[in-house]
Amino acid sequence: MATRFEIVLHGANATSLRAAGEEALDEIARIESQLSLYRPTSEIARVNARAAYEPVRVTPPVYNLLKHARDLSGACERAFDITIAPLVRCWGFMGGTGEAADPKQLAEARECIGMAHVHFDDAKQTIQFDRPGVMLDLGAIGKGYAIDRAVEFLLEAGVESALVHGGTSTVYGIGKPMDGGAWKVAVANAFGTPNTDSIALPTITLENEALSVSAIWGRSFEKEGKMLGHVIDPRTGEPTQTAQLATVITKSATDSDALSTALLVLGQPGETTLKQTFPTIRTFIL
Ligand code: ADP
Ligand code: MG
Repeated sequence: MATRFEIVLHGANATSLRAAGEEALDEIARIESQLSLYRPTSEIARVNARAAYEPVRVTPPVYNLLKHARDLSGACERAFDITIAPLVRCWGFMGGTGEAADPKQLAEARECIGMAHVHFDDAKQTIQFDRPGVMLDLGAIGKGYAIDRAVEFLLEAGVESALVHGGTSTVYGIGKPMDGGAWKVAVANAFGTPNTDSIALPTITLENEALSVSAIWGRSFEKEGKMLGHVIDPRTGEPTQTAQLATVITKSATDSDALSTALLVLGQPGETTLKQTFPTIRTFIL
């Protein structure tokens, strides 16, 4: 994930708050070392290296997260799909800021996309791919998952008021801030182009909820006047152009992270699609 995580804690006992915050950050670091496809020793890197040849056993939390990612993919018309990795590589976003994809490599990568290529064995807790070239990338869900686990740690430690964010794109508000109001999070307009400058971006209040934003800017490059970002439509193989920014607010940071990525790909009609399966989510899209 290589992301900066921050926690703001409020409460009476500074020493116990600090201990809780440090434990939560340790948990986030542990999860990153489990999930990052860029760390050769992570569970995901091990799955990516071997699952095309044999079933690979993973720890129960990772197994459950992968199944949850599969279910989310099904619920959002495959706009979110953790088998996106070959496409992320084709478009130069694996450790880079993007470049035009080679058509032949793109065609090959597209053959490897889809959770149908990933087989789960519940009894053995193993993952297997049905062909070489399949590769998992939890970039659109891992930060949210890490934040949910950190929030769990903080709640267990008795923390009643905190704000946790990862990479400023997923944020969770526990309880209320010091002034007793609500945690207020502003969605920033990092784009600053004339067509979005005039649009008022919302300030959102969070109480025991998570907010995630996905956008086509940030890690992106320009080609023929188009902004091509690191969120790719798994169904077409192209960086998504449907919307510029998508926000999802819900109880779980894991879900808000994945669903904001899905909503960016689905565009406006996605608000209706997602609300059919997740009726309590709040969304914002432009
Ligand atoms: P951010 O990392 O800026 O919060 P996202 O949560 O939208 O943004 O995640 C984008 C990352 O997820 C990409 O860098 C890539 O690794 C991966 N990804 C890209 N497109 C998809 C997709 N359609 N479904 C799942 N993961 C994706
Ligand atoms: Mg996401």
